[in-house]
Amino acid sequence: MPEGITTACYIVASILFILSLGGLSNQEKARRGNLYGIIGMLLAVGATLFNASVGNYGIIATVVAVGAVIGAVLASRVKMTAMPELVAMLHSFVGLAAVLVGYATFLDQTHPLEGAVKTIHDVEVYLGILIGAVTFTGSVVAFGKLNGMIGGKPLTLPGRHLLNLLILIACIYLGYDFIQTGSQTSLMIMTVLALLFGIHMVAAIGGADMPVVISMLNSYSGWAAAATGFLLENDLLIVTGALVGSSGAILSIIMCRAMNRKFISVILGGFGSSNGNGAKAEGEQGEAVAITGTETADLLKNAQSVVIVPGYGMAVAQAQQTVSTMVQKLINTGVNVRFAIHPVAGRMPGHMNVLLAEAKVSYDIVLEMDEINDDFPETEVVMVIGANDIVNPDAENDPDSPIAGMPVLQVWNAKDVIVLKRSMAAGYAGVENPLFFHDNTRMLFGDAKESIDSVVQGLG
Ligand code: NDP
Repeated sequence: MPEGITTACYIVASILFILSLGGLSNQEKARRGNLYGIIGMLLAVGATLFNASVGNYGIIATVVAVGAVIGAVLASRVKMTAMPELVAMLHSFVGLAAVLVGYATFLDQTHPLEGAVKTIHDVEVYLGILIGAVTFTGSVVAFGKLNGMIGGKPLTLPGRHLLNLLILIACIYLGYDFIQTGSQTSLMIMTVLALLFGIHMVAAIGGADMPVVISMLNSYSGWAAAATGFLLENDLLIVTGALVGSSGAILSIIMCRAMNRKFISVILGGFGSSNGNGAKAEGEQGEAVAITGTETADLLKNAQSVVIVPGYGMAVAQAQQTVSTMVQKLINTGVNVRFAIHPVAGRMPGHMNVLLAEAKVSYDIVLEMDEINDDFPETEVVMVIGANDIVNPDAENDPDSPIAGMPVLQVWNAKDVIVLKRSMAAGYAGVENPLFFHDNTRMLFGDAKESIDSVVQGLG
C-alpha cells in the first residue's frame, strides 16, 4: 500500500478515535461512539498491516490468531464484576509492550544514529521503558487489589516518600548517564527501579482511592503507547496514545473531584484504609432492623417518590434487569422513580450507567449525585441496592474515617431507607456503615436479585 494511503487511513482513524471519545461522553451516543472506535481500530490495524514496510505475514497471522482467540474467550467469559480487573490487566500489557519495544529498539543497531537524532532517540527509549515499566507493575498490583488477591490496606513503608524521591533522583541520574554513554547497565537499573516504583506506588494507595488509581493507570498506559509510537515512528500510535493519556488524566481529575481528594495526595498514597477509629461494633451502634420483600413492596406501592441507589452489589447479583422490571411496574402505577448514581459506585467509572443501559432503563430518570442529592428530604423511599461506601454518613460525620470528605449520597435524609445486601459486611473501603442502624433504615437481607424478585412479586 502506498505511503500516502497509509497516512490518509491514519488521519481518518485518528478522527474516528476523537469522535469515539466524544460519543462515549454521553450515554445516548455511546453506542455510536463505540462503533466509531471499532471502525477506527480496523482501519488502523488494516493500514498498518498493508504498509510496505511490513512483511512476515505468516508470523503476524499466527500471532494475531492466537491473540484474537485468547481475547475473544476472555472477553466472552469475563463477568461484568471482573471488568475492572480485566482493564487493569490490559493496561499492564500496554506497559509491558512499551518496555519490550523500548529494549528491541535499543538493541536494534541496523540503522546507527548520530548527534541530536541519536539523543532524541535515546530519550524516547528511556522514557518509553520508564513509563512502560511503572505502568506494567502498577497495573499488575491494581489487578491484584481489585480481585482481592492483595488486600485494600495501603502499604506504608517507613520513609516511603524519601524512597520515592531517591528513586526519582536515581532515574534522572541514570537517564543522564544513558544518554551520555549509551550505558545498557544504566538502562537496566532504571528498569528495575521503575518496576519497583510501580509496585510501591499502587501498593501505597488504599482501597477507597482505587477509582483514581484505575483512571491514572489508564492515563499512564496511554502515555506508554505514545512513547512506543515515537520509537516505532508511528504517528497514529502517538495520537492514540496521547488521546488515551489525556482522557485518562481528565478522568483521574474527575474522580479526584468526585472523591474530594487532591490528586497529589492520592499518588503519594497512605489514604483510603481504616485506621481503626471508623469501625464500631454493631452493638455500639444499635440494632439493624430487617424487612421482607412483601413489606418493601407495600412501602414502594404507597410512595409518591422513590429513589434507587445502585452499587457494586447490584452488579454482583446481576440484578439490573429485575430492577428495571420493578421500576417499570412502579412507574406504571404512577410512582415517581429515579436513580441516583454516585461517580464511584461499583468498581469502574460509569459501571452503574453501563448496567442500567444494558437493562434499557430510560436515561432521563438516571441522575448524577449532584443532580439529586438535595432531593432526598422530599423522597419517601430510598432503595439502596448493593451499595455501601457511597451512602456512608461517616464520610461526612467522622473525620477519622478512611472515606472522610468523600461526597456521598445523603439517603438518610429520606423518610424511609431500605438497604439490600446479604449481610452486615463492610464495602470496598472496609468501613462500618452507621446508616444500617438509623431509625428510618430497614435491611432487606439476601442476594439483591432474589430480593428484588420477591419485591416484584409483592407488587403483583
Ligand atoms: P461497596 O463495595 O461499598 O459495597 C457493595 C455492597 O454490596 C457490599 O457491602 C456487599 O454487602 C453488597 N453486595 C455484594 N454482593 C451482593 C449481592 N449479590 N446482593 C446484594 N448485595 C451484595 O460498593 P459501592 O458501589 O457502594 O461503592 C464503591 C466502592 O468501590 C467505593 O469504595 C469506591 O471507592 C470503590 N471503587 C470504585 C471504583 C470505581 O471506579 N467505581 C474502582 C475501585 C474501587 P454484602 O457482602 O453484605 O452483601
